[in-house]
Amino acid sequence: MDSSSPPVEMFFFPFVGGGHQIPMIDIARVFASHGAKATIITTPKHSLSFQKSINRDQKSCLPISIHALELSDDVDVADTDMSATSLTDTSVLQEPLQNLLVKRKPDCIVHDVFHRWSADAIDSVGIPRITFNGNGCFACCVRENLERCKPHEKMTSDLEPFIVPGLPDRIELTTSQLPFFGTQPNVGGLYKRMLGSDGKSFGVMVNSFYDLETAYVDYFRNELGNRAWLVGPVSSCNRNVEDKAERGQKTSVDEKTILSWLDSKELSSVLYVSFGSLVRLAPEQILEIAHGLEASNHPFIWVIGKIFKSGGQNEESQENILPNGFEDRIKESRRGLIIKGWAPQLLILEHPAIGGFVTHCGWNSTLEGMSAGLPLVTWPITAEQFSNEKLITDVLKIGVKVGSMHWRSPRTEPSVTVGREKVEAAVKRLMGGGEEAAEMRRRAKELGEKAKRAVEEGGSSYKDADALIQELESRRKC
Ligand code: UDP
Repeated sequence: MDSSSPPVEMFFFPFVGGGHQIPMIDIARVFASHGAKATIITTPKHSLSFQKSINRDQKSCLPISIHALELSDDVDVADTDMSATSLTDTSVLQEPLQNLLVKRKPDCIVHDVFHRWSADAIDSVGIPRITFNGNGCFACCVRENLERCKPHEKMTSDLEPFIVPGLPDRIELTTSQLPFFGTQPNVGGLYKRMLGSDGKSFGVMVNSFYDLETAYVDYFRNELGNRAWLVGPVSSCNRNVEDKAERGQKTSVDEKTILSWLDSKELSSVLYVSFGSLVRLAPEQILEIAHGLEASNHPFIWVIGKIFKSGGQNEESQENILPNGFEDRIKESRRGLIIKGWAPQLLILEHPAIGGFVTHCGWNSTLEGMSAGLPLVTWPITAEQFSNEKLITDVLKIGVKVGSMHWRSPRTEPSVTVGREKVEAAVKRLMGGGEEAAEMRRRAKELGEKAKRAVEEGGSSYKDADALIQELESRRKC
């Protein structure tokens, strides 16, 4: 960076909660570590969940700050419990954001597409806009080609597999695995927004790295014509225990308890099971998981998040949903640890005792598992998670499918349950130590090494972040 000019000023406008806010905060921290002046735009309430890690960065002299938009007294957007979905309306933030942009004129703003009004609002004040949609390139390519060719429309049954046309690999999906809105006409505008390819955006910010999905990064850039900066895995900016333990929300179990439990276990012997921040499983599904885990006979840490309760019952309440005596049995045998609520996921995944991850294939969890060099059991449920599963199992070959076939919105009532036998079989296949498992483990480890190299000085993600800063700097001279 030219030392005579003031640093490039970048704004970051994360979505309010869910798996979109966490990576955007990390992206801002990455750019600050590259010397850009980074400002995170949020609301007073939402800033609380990441204030401490930003304070720590400031103490280390990183040029990063939070700007809380001024809102009238009793107005704020969504809860702070990570339960916001793409449908959460945030338009109350439009006017204060535009006022701020006019006043400060940053060199660019990275905005989350879930603020559905934000592209037009930012364009109207003439600030270069970089799109963030939370997905990797593979999922973006799948979505784009489904939208262009609509192979699912020729299928006669929801479970009949079709090939996603035009991709570097043979990728099969079924209509049952597509978002319900993905099978409806006239969603092209929404997809273009999601991809940042509406012709007006400066480019797309991606939490991924080149070596992870090389053919799909090339396809996304060269065939689909997107400008993309890949700067991940951005979770790597959480270097100390506090950052890892306090990421997203306050954890429900103190990290020392978890770490000392893990310390008592053998290397790569423990399975970590989590479904992210949004998904609500039905009580019947929780029961099947419990039986499946117990029958598999491998040690586990299981994060039980919110439970779907029909009739508006309290979703936080986890009374009486586990099999009789289950908790006592696993406590006595020290075979399992149950976390009810929020877990310090990064801290857990990086512990050497962890040997596998049952994941809902949210992109952040997927990347975090890969970065820790872990093989995965894939259990997609919503969003672009079925695409992520294909990347994990069919392209990278570092995972085993549990057999989830039906897409559903995180808000709707879960209909189909994955049975205990499927859970047990997938866990045994991954953790059982056969030749197939050893191969997956070897490939996953190699990928974890590549992830680390990508963000080190000279790595592909490191270079992409620098290249964007330089480009923004040179635009000033025009
Ligand atoms: N997460 C966490 N503890 C939890 C649950 C989730 O730290 O108990 C974090 C996880 O590390 C990831 C994010 O929340 O960074 C979830 O994002 P993902 O894309 O995996 O799934 P989503 O929540 O969007 O479905």
